[in-house]
Amino acid sequence: MAIIPEETIKAVLDATDIVDVIGGYFPLKRAGSAFVCNCPFHNEKTPSFNVNPARQFFHCFGCGESGDAISFVRKHENVPFMDAVKKLARAAGVPIIEQAHDPQAEKRQRNRSRLIQLHNDAAEFMHQMLRKSPQATHARDYLKNRGFNSEMAENWKVGWMPDNATLFLQWAKEKGYKGRELCQAGLAGQRDEHNPSAGLWVRFLNRLMFPIYNDYGDIIAFSGRQLVADPNSGKYINSPQTPLFDKSRTFFGLNKAKKHMPKAGFALICEGQIDAISCYEQGIQNAIAPLGTACTEAHAKLLKRYTSEAVLCYDADNAGYKAMAKAFDHLAPVGIHIRCIDMPKGEDPDSYIQKHGIEEFKALVNNAKEYFEYTLDYEARENDLTDIRQKSEIASKLAKQINLLSNKVAQDTIINQVAARLGIGQQDLRTTMFKEHKNSARLRSRSKHREEQEEDNTQHDRVDPTPLDGSIAILCSMALGSLDAQQWLCEQLESLHEPLQNTTGGHLLTTILARKPDASSNSSVMAYLNTLAPSDTLALQQTLSYRIPADVIKATSEASAMVINSHYQREEAAVRAALSQPGLSPEQFKHLLERTKDLQDILKNLRNRYIR
Ligand code: ATP
Ligand code: MN
Repeated sequence: MAIIPEETIKAVLDATDIVDVIGGYFPLKRAGSAFVCNCPFHNEKTPSFNVNPARQFFHCFGCGESGDAISFVRKHENVPFMDAVKKLARAAGVPIIEQAHDPQAEKRQRNRSRLIQLHNDAAEFMHQMLRKSPQATHARDYLKNRGFNSEMAENWKVGWMPDNATLFLQWAKEKGYKGRELCQAGLAGQRDEHNPSAGLWVRFLNRLMFPIYNDYGDIIAFSGRQLVADPNSGKYINSPQTPLFDKSRTFFGLNKAKKHMPKAGFALICEGQIDAISCYEQGIQNAIAPLGTACTEAHAKLLKRYTSEAVLCYDADNAGYKAMAKAFDHLAPVGIHIRCIDMPKGEDPDSYIQKHGIEEFKALVNNAKEYFEYTLDYEARENDLTDIRQKSEIASKLAKQINLLSNKVAQDTIINQVAARLGIGQQDLRTTMFKEHKNSARLRSRSKHREEQEEDNTQHDRVDPTPLDGSIAILCSMALGSLDAQQWLCEQLESLHEPLQNTTGGHLLTTILARKPDASSNSSVMAYLNTLAPSDTLALQQTLSYRIPADVIKATSEASAMVINSHYQREEAAVRAALSQPGLSPEQFKHLLERTKDLQDILKNLRNRYIR
């Protein structure tokens, strides 16, 4: 990818008015100093999408999308950053001078576009096969039997992959796709790696094909269902991991469902893609499904962009129960609230809806139990709660999960509830929680190194914003939005230095204060943000929608007091814990004690200075 210099991006943003850009797509209505319209990124009836001409920035209060003119074009047209800049540059008459090339990145990008094109074309080929091929009668009958009409098949671009591999390979050849590309997409493989002339095998044959989309709506993989039962192969086969597709960070149906989550207030997570489709088609449009895998941490982060609640609808058997627990383990830590549907044994949403109708299923969804209530009911059915051993095993298991709740108020309520239900003391449960916490911290640090290595080896398509502590986010927004605040913060660097190093996202504020982008010019700030790593850019862009208060210095000093205060409180807690360790030498003990006194003084001073 060629690199566009920061000055050029600034020039483009300077010459562009975001109100014109967005107003060119939809009519905008003036509302005070801003403009509003219905959000193009999610479905809504009352406009919560705001365009701020002063800050040249958009923000949707419904779904949280936000950014500058470049990110708007990027998101709305689903084009890469460069293309969005070029488009705006053309409209504004700014010449683009590209800097040094990064041939590798450029090649990767071209390769990705080409693979997406291949997926789109292949989906169309299979869709036409399903609709028209005389050999696909059984596939059409199967779909009809499962309650799919042709509109649904069209809506989800369902297809049929012929039984005859040559038909597909011939089609690909005529379209100009190379064998190498088919292999990279996971649609085919080489019969003999050492001998290319041995030809290709095709992964999916005589299967009903469901395209898998990323949340932008590009087709990135396929899932194929058997039409003829064959015990030698899986009922479903998915594309393997490819440069486009990683099943542990993809939800089937998210591209459609994400628009409906803000209004519904939750995501319905089903086990199978046919379940997600059935729900969607019957009007539960916030339904998604992982792709035959457990929910992962990446799934959780992805989902958190669109909703803070998930209703799980898994099989009513032990496997389903375990899968829900696993989903909880990943979803709860990012702050997703979880409820579980009590499904009758042997049913999934699709079969249930076919039998009982959508209204009865909606009632099940509405009556979904809180995660811990569901779990306690299940455990009480499966175990003997009067047996001390069984009870303490369950207590340990639940303690681990209670530890994962990010909302401490909710945590207290759950502790009450679980302790009462198990008939144990609250304090005992808290002690168990503490023990489990220490255990898992040990395990985490052991596996962290391994994970970091794995992380390095995989290339990710979408980025997650760099996590920011709440006060840090406020400080970044001030430093980027007010010259006075920026100046004030620079003057405080000495006392902020250490706390920033030890606070989540603090390094971003340090970077801003080192670079000092011109906070009085939006385009300078935007151009500066675009020079950062994508996850940092995203995190800081989100802070730009914060309001800059009239008394900016007061707000800035309060937020920095929070950062400094929490830092020293954490240190004090750590020193206290160290003091209670057995086996300290007298020097160590003296040193720690002195540090405690210092810290108490620091904290007292801080309270006198800032807290009224
Ligand atoms: P159907 O209704 O078509 O039989 P289902 O969704 O009810 O499908 P389940 O057996 O409940 O099927 O499986 C749930 C999900 O797990 C499937 O939608 C699919 O994504 C995945 N899956 C099922 N079987 C396999 C398999 N053999 N290999 C890989 N993934 C599978
Ligand atoms: Mn099913």
